[in-house]
Formats: sequence, structure tokens, C-alpha cells
Amino acid sequence: WPMPSASEGMSRTGNHQMIRSLLSIPSFWQTEARDTIPVHPESDSTLQEGDIVFRRKRSAINCDSSCFWPKSSDGLVKVPVNVSTEFCKLLVYRTWIAEAMQEFTTLTCVQFINRTTETNYISVVPGESCWSHFGKIGGMQQVGLMKTGCMSKGAIQHEMNHALGFLHEQSRSDRDNYVKIMWEYVIAGEQGNFGKVNSNNLGLPYDYSSVMHYGANDFSNTSGKATIVPIPDPSVPIGQREGLSNLDVAKINKLYNCCSNVLHKPNDTFSSVNYPSSYPDNSNCLWLIRIPQHQIFLQFDAFDLQPSPDCTSDYIRVYDGSSRNSSVLLDKLCGMGSLPSLVASRNVMLVEFVSDEATAATGFQASYSQGEDSASFTELGDISNFCLANIHVQN
Ligand SMILES: [Zn+2]
Repeated sequence: WPMPSASEGMSRTGNHQMIRSLLSIPSFWQTEARDTIPVHPESDSTLQEGDIVFRRKRSAINCDSSCFWPKSSDGLVKVPVNVSTEFCKLLVYRTWIAEAMQEFTTLTCVQFINRTTETNYISVVPGESCWSHFGKIGGMQQVGLMKTGCMSKGAIQHEMNHALGFLHEQSRSDRDNYVKIMWEYVIAGEQGNFGKVNSNNLGLPYDYSSVMHYGANDFSNTSGKATIVPIPDPSVPIGQREGLSNLDVAKINKLYNCCSNVLHKPNDTFSSVNYPSSYPDNSNCLWLIRIPQHQIFLQFDAFDLQPSPDCTSDYIRVYDGSSRNSSVLLDKLCGMGSLPSLVASRNVMLVEFVSDEATAATGFQASYSQGEDSASFTELGDISNFCLANIHVQN
């Protein structure tokens, strides 16, 4: 593919400092790469909105079905990825990349898998800037990561999310209700990065905390002057690159018609899709329960899944942690009946529900609450060796 040539710049301003301290982001996270985009004249590509490569034939707005990664029969959207050895050589790089991808894999039905022979795949390469194509383009497509500018979980996720078919949050059709673009402070020639598109907003709200939102001072021509000001409250932080927001996750699952969720209230109830009517075939749903500080108690208030030998057809599985690599609290379970309460050892628990292509039942309803003891836990990336091994989380 023609590589867009780009020179990078950094925006370092007071407001970034504020956001950084609010989110406790290490200092290098603030230096979001800014592409100044001299497009190669022979290229059939052009960088728009700072870091998105659009092929000229494709409308930026109309990502048709060929632009989305296909869903396989198990309900998962598998996106093959190849990571440059340049990144694999260094533990810190491969850890960031692995953790960024793991979060998609855990929270959404998009599963980044190690590319073997697949025709359509993403190649993560070192770049002079941070950039990506918009949606699946067919064949190999690159995601460029600048070693000094976008080596943070959220910045990597930002570029990967472009490749899944997402634009910048502040380019949404309804953005004028939520932010004001301060055109007088936008660097001359960079106004194109602040365009508004006739986007499909998926029926989900505008998200200031999206990893797809620009920072307040991006492309500013004046130190300390914001180019994007949230309205009505200008102090709302924007531009975080800590990790996918709840709405980022919801939007990915909605766009790809999946059913995974993050639950973060101290107590909540959830159920299979359509409960108490029949759940759909070929679904693969996850509920990540991630509450502050306390261990989690889970109980099933109703349970009715298609029975099968060894529960190979439809089943529930519960993990004591935040990914399908975590230890199993409750292995494949199906049929009808009452289940014992489950207790996570810490403040994260993952509930997985899988249905096959035939015979559904009413499904389940479950509720959880928090224990009294403090038991918070930050999982370290246990997949930082994905350059050497398969990053696909096998069940
Ligand atoms: Zn972008």
C-alpha cells in the first residue's frame, strides 16, 4: 500500500497536563501524534481527520458491509493481526499492543487473532505518525504506530478502532450539541481535521470519554488555547487514551451486532438476550463485571439453557477474572435448575454465554452484589508474549 508520508508534531499544552493528571497517565501518553499530512502526489490514499487513510474511491461516511470485518458462525468477529518485529523486540511495546488488543477481545466480540494465512488482515507497523485505514479495505492493511507518540493502550485502540470502522467522536453529526470548535485556534491548513460527517451514531450517546475523541488542544496554533471546548461545561475532560470507554465498547458491539457488556455498578441484574423469550442462535455474549474494590457475589435467579451432553451446544461459563484466560469459577453449564452462588476472589468477574445454531430456550437472569471486604486487583498483561505465541484467546 502506498504509505502516506507525514511529519509528526506534538501538542503539549496546559490542558493536556490537566487531563493527564486527572487520569494519571504517564507523561509520554500526552504526546499524541499529530499528523501534518503532506499526501504523496501519486498516492491513491489521503490522510484525513489527522490519522485516517481514506481511499479516494470510498466515501468516508458510507462504510458498506464490505467495510466491516465478517462475523464467524460462533458469533465472533475475528480480525487477523500481524505485528512488526520492530515492536516485538521490546517488551514495553509488545505489552502495550497486547493489552490494547486484549481489551477488545475481552469486552467486545471483536477478537484480534494472530494472522496466519488469512487474506484480509491488519499489519501493525512502526510509523512516522499514528494512522489507520477506515474499516476493512481488503487484503493487507497497515496500522501505523509511532514509537514515541502512540504507545499507550488508548492510542493503539484509537487506531485499531478506525480499522474496525469508527471515525472520530467529535466528527459525529450531532457534535455541535456537545462541543464547540474554536476555529480561530486551529492551525492553518488543519481545519479539515475538525469536519463533521453524516455519521451513523448507532443510537448511542455522544461520548466525551471515548478514545476516539480528540484532545482539547489538538492542532492548536496557540499554546494554552483549546481547539475543542465541551459545552456547556468546558471542564469536561476529552481526549483520554487510557482505554476503551463503556460507550466505545457498546458502540463496537452494536456496530457488529454483538451482545457483550461491561457492568460497573456495585449491584446489578442482567440476563440473556430477549429473556424471558428465547435467546437467539449463534450468540456469544460476555458480561464483564468490574466494580470498585470489592469482591463480587453472583447468583442466577433463573437458568434454562438447551441441554446437551457436556454442554457443547449452549452453555454458561464464569471466570474469576477479566478474560477468558482467567481461571474458571463455573465451567460449561446447561439445562435447567438452580445454581449455587459464585464468589469472585476479586473485583472482576466474566460471565460468558454461548448458543449454537439450533434450539434455544429462555436463557438466564443473574444478579450480583459486592462483598464487604476490599479485594481490588489490577490484572497484569499475561499475554505480553503474543509476538511469540498466538494472541487469540482460545476457550
Ligand atoms: Zn484518529
